[in-house]
Amino acid sequence: MLTEHVYVAIGSNIGDSATIVAQAMEAIGHIRGCELRGRSSLYRSAAVGDIPQGDYINAVARLDTELQPLDLLLELQAIEHAYYRNREDERRWAPRTLDLDIVLFGNHRINDSHLVIPHPEFVNRRFVLEPMLEINGDLYIPGYGSLKYLVNQAPALEMEKLASSHG
Ligand code: ATP
Ligand code: CA
Ligand code: CA
Repeated sequence: MLTEHVYVAIGSNIGDSATIVAQAMEAIGHIRGCELRGRSSLYRSAAVGDIPQGDYINAVARLDTELQPLDLLLELQAIEHAYYRNREDERRWAPRTLDLDIVLFGNHRINDSHLVIPHPEFVNRRFVLEPMLEINGDLYIPGYGSLKYLVNQAPALEMEKLASSHG
């Protein structure tokens, strides 16, 4: 069976975010056709953008999956909804209980109306890159370069590593 290596970025800044992120990590590991292969620590980062809001808790999960990219997106959205994600506020970067973004899906390049991969902002987001580096320090991303290089050139961000997400 063909499997793809996937990186999923997890974020939350409403409620008990550390618990929500840790539980989301487990839930991702239970998606049919997916196996959790790596998990970063949890990180706390300052929210970016013009909307005043609390800090985010972030993490990254590394999966092997047999699913098609859009099927994985649907599964991740089902997990978001299970956490009552607040989408009354439809502004971008508004606070939310749980946000799951597919960062990389193997070496696929996807550009359709529902899914863009690699995630268009990942190179600018230290809260995505640093957890990825923790999982795979040797990752090389065709068209972008080494993950180490991307971390070095990413914009500064107020963030700190918290305890491990393992139980
Ligand atoms: P950003 O993508 O800049 O982090 P966001 O996470 O706040 O913004 P959402 O409101 O969560 O954006 O998602 C809007 C839509 O983005 C989703 O419904 C989904 O169809 C689409 N989308 C496109 N590419 C991706 C991706 N790589 N991972 C997850 N969703 C994606
Ligand atoms: Ca996001
Ligand atoms: Ca999202």
